[in-house]
Amino acid sequence: MKYFVLFGPPGAGKGTQAGAMVERYNLCHLSTGELLRSEIAAGTPLGLQAKALIEAGSLVPDEVVVGMIESKFKSVKNVKGFLLDGFPRTIAQAEALDAMLSKNGESVTGCISLMIPDDLIHERIAHRANIEGRADDARPEVVANRVKTYHDKTEPLIDFYKKANRYHEIDGVGLIEEVRDRIFKKLDLL
Ligand code: ADP
Repeated sequence: MKYFVLFGPPGAGKGTQAGAMVERYNLCHLSTGELLRSEIAAGTPLGLQAKALIEAGSLVPDEVVVGMIESKFKSVKNVKGFLLDGFPRTIAQAEALDAMLSKNGESVTGCISLMIPDDLIHERIAHRANIEGRADDARPEVVANRVKTYHDKTEPLIDFYKKANRYHEIDGVGLIEEVRDRIFKKLDLL
């Protein structure tokens, strides 16, 4: 099994690029953001717990997302691997992922990091707010907190995956197709 981490700041285009990637490489797309939004929509206790945190632009607790990922690893069959989108987002989550995989003698195949500058993050999220209607996209102060949370808690993962020799950075600026082709060129080799 291959385990790809799709990494990048909010608005980097992870969700946009994930579709083409899962199709080309027969992967299961696991987006913790999407999984959490469906828990909220279904009104589950987990969803209720997550809602306020997401709407404030903060992270939900590590054990919540780690548990969601672990149960998907167990239940999803007939794929060549997984594309993890929005997970891990903290060093503790990355360590939990490594521990989960190493139990079966597996490891993260590669971290594909989509990079865009902060000003483009704000521009893209403002645009997405009009299209997708996500509560956490609509308020500038929430977006600002998501960007801050990214820099404080998530960015340290770049060094984590660099040290593990798993880090592959892709320029996320440009047309969707251009970025997609840059990703394919890299993934074809992994
Ligand atoms: P974006 O594309 O803006 O990064 P996501 O859809 O991935 O947004 O995530 C939306 C929100 O869900 C995050 O701001 C956070 O509150 C929560 N979330 C998603 N993934 C995680 C995670 N791995 N750990 C903690 N919180 C998460």
